[in-house]
Amino acid sequence: MNKNPYEVLGVARDASEADIKKAYHKLVLKYHPDKNPGDKNAEEKFKEVNNAFDILKDPQKRAAYDRFGDAAFAGGNASGANPFGAGGNPFGNGAFHFNMGGGAGMEDILREAMRGFGFDGFGSGSSRGENRRSGRDLLDEVVIDLKDAYFGKKHTVKFSSEVKCDKCNGLGTADGKEAPICSRCGGTGYVHTSRGFFAVETPCPDCNGLGHKIEKKCSQCDGTGTIHKTRTLEVNIPAGVEDGTRLRLAGQGEAGQNGAPAGDFYLDVRIRPDKVFERQGTDLILKLDVPFTTLALGGEIEISTIDDKKLSVKVPAGTQIGEKLRVRGHGMPGRRAGNFGDLYIDINMKVPTKLTEKQKKLLNEFASIKSEKRGWF
Ligand SMILES: [Zn+2]
Ligand SMILES: [Zn+2]
Repeated sequence: MNKNPYEVLGVARDASEADIKKAYHKLVLKYHPDKNPGDKNAEEKFKEVNNAFDILKDPQKRAAYDRFGDAAFAGGNASGANPFGAGGNPFGNGAFHFNMGGGAGMEDILREAMRGFGFDGFGSGSSRGENRRSGRDLLDEVVIDLKDAYFGKKHTVKFSSEVKCDKCNGLGTADGKEAPICSRCGGTGYVHTSRGFFAVETPCPDCNGLGHKIEKKCSQCDGTGTIHKTRTLEVNIPAGVEDGTRLRLAGQGEAGQNGAPAGDFYLDVRIRPDKVFERQGTDLILKLDVPFTTLALGGEIEISTIDDKKLSVKVPAGTQIGEKLRVRGHGMPGRRAGNFGDLYIDINMKVPTKLTEKQKKLLNEFASIKSEKRGWF
């Protein structure tokens, strides 16, 4: 069992990448074998620190750890016990450098430590797994009306991206079968070479780091396992969606090369301001002009709700401008199904400007009759 990587590095669960790097650099200097010759305890700590950093520096591994804990890395490559199911770990061959049951060699750790310092002087700078590039995430944006946000909406996105080659099923081989394991590297995708003091690893030149040697490439994808294709995705925008929501469609991004995992597809939802309704959380505000006589005498007004229903609302006598009348349950859908916010009618009034002679006469008459004690108000 590996120790909790957050505890090992002494960082919070939500620590930033920069904080993690900082903590790692501090500890790796402290426990570096050069500084602690012959100290088994320091060597152990040094390995732990590197193990922890190996997980936390990689957003995918970090997410996997956050979700599954140590189980995400149990057994390394070959285990059927990992939560990602068949096909081994989702990060490509040999990515679990320091988590294979203590099998990591000291030179691996040193190499990784040097890399942690931005010292990438070995070989071409490419490392294991890079040739099995995961698919990129894709991001799109859609602007919808408030009414669409009320009802929810099916949104169709059309775009082109890398997808798994259907001729070889992503394997890159002409016969569509998995290529034999590379004999030079034994399927690990890397070979050991000596660079002076260090024994370093470089991508296997026979298989380009894939671990499999493709003798005859698939003619459709030229051995990469992916092809460029126009795709359509149907995204369900849920009812009640809020402005700025980012929806995620796992695994619907670009296909990974040579069997590496696909990226995700993200859709940012923006909501166009509505001309009639103003949204406040799940509540809606409707600013409405009501005749002066209705406000004074009381009465009923008819309104249209966001879902286009006609509704009759009672206005109490003596309602003032700026008062808000609540109509329960006619706001936006809440997070729980069947829950709705409220609609508030924000009372406003327009002073009439085009009066007929008769109206003028009546208003004049009204103005002349004042309540004996209090005037009009
Ligand atoms: Zn090889
Ligand atoms: Zn192919």
